[in-house]
Amino acid sequence: MKIAILSRDESLYSTRRLTHVAERNGHSVRVIDYLRCSMDITSKRPRVLYQGDELKRFDAVIPRIGVSQTFYGTAVVRQFETMGVRSLNSSTAISCSRDKLRSMQQLAAAGLPMPTTGFAHLTKDIGALIDLVGGPPLVIKLLEGTQGIGVILAESRNVAEAVIEAFRGLDANILVQQYVAEAHGIDYRALVVGGEVVAAIERRAEAGGFRSNLHRGGKARRIDLSTEMIDVAVKAAEVSGLNLAGIDLLPSDRGPLVMEVNSSPGLEGVEKATQINVAGEIIGFLESDSE
Ligand code: ADP
Repeated sequence: MKIAILSRDESLYSTRRLTHVAERNGHSVRVIDYLRCSMDITSKRPRVLYQGDELKRFDAVIPRIGVSQTFYGTAVVRQFETMGVRSLNSSTAISCSRDKLRSMQQLAAAGLPMPTTGFAHLTKDIGALIDLVGGPPLVIKLLEGTQGIGVILAESRNVAEAVIEAFRGLDANILVQQYVAEAHGIDYRALVVGGEVVAAIERRAEAGGFRSNLHRGGKARRIDLSTEMIDVAVKAAEVSGLNLAGIDLLPSDRGPLVMEVNSSPGLEGVEKATQINVAGEIIGFLESDSE
């Protein structure tokens, strides 16, 4: 196969691993910085141009679109799709998963278990919003946040009100969520490839913290998920229309809850903690899907 990896930087761990495995399996790989692509969308023959070159005859693209570049990145993926090139994750599924609110609505509509979550726009709704998730302690999240930045635990009503008001003053979109105390700062990341969990890690927050993100000092270790967790992770990926997804789950008294769906999950934390060749699973999926 001729594979294009849409990535801003070929030295990134995930990009390097995917390139390495694909080449080892006999495929030709080109890493393309999607921000440097231009698109010919007016002609009858849609094209993608890259530094003056026309990008032709790719069999598949692997999108590694950064969260802050979703708009342009998904447009490039869509252009490849228009040209008949398969994308590991479709442009539509990537766009949907990047809109956290839309993604949560989609998961809830499919009956997936999630923490009780509220979202509102007007300041006068604050009290009702806090009550909706069962009162404090509660978690307030910036919709645009990643890597645990903009995730705040408000332990009292006063703090919750002040934080919500402050974010509203900045015109930031926030959501308010029931605090799942019994998770004890632990969450799970399941890597789903082609409808199967191929690897999973448990992340544990630093002592005294509740955010288990590895960027926030969390520690990861390999874990075998329960059948219930596997079912929830696989269904979340399926509902989101993603062939590759990182599904974040919180353990709770009422079973695993879906916290987030990632369409470009990083491979480094998972591969290093589990010693599982996740890049190999991804390339293997593309190979089986092209038969
Ligand atoms: P980001 O998308 O920025 O990674 P998350 O929503 O995943 O933010 O939250 C970061 C971390 O905070 C999670 O990995 C989890 O450990 C913790 N966390 C998030 N929401 C809750 C919640 N409702 N209850 C308990 N812990 C939570």
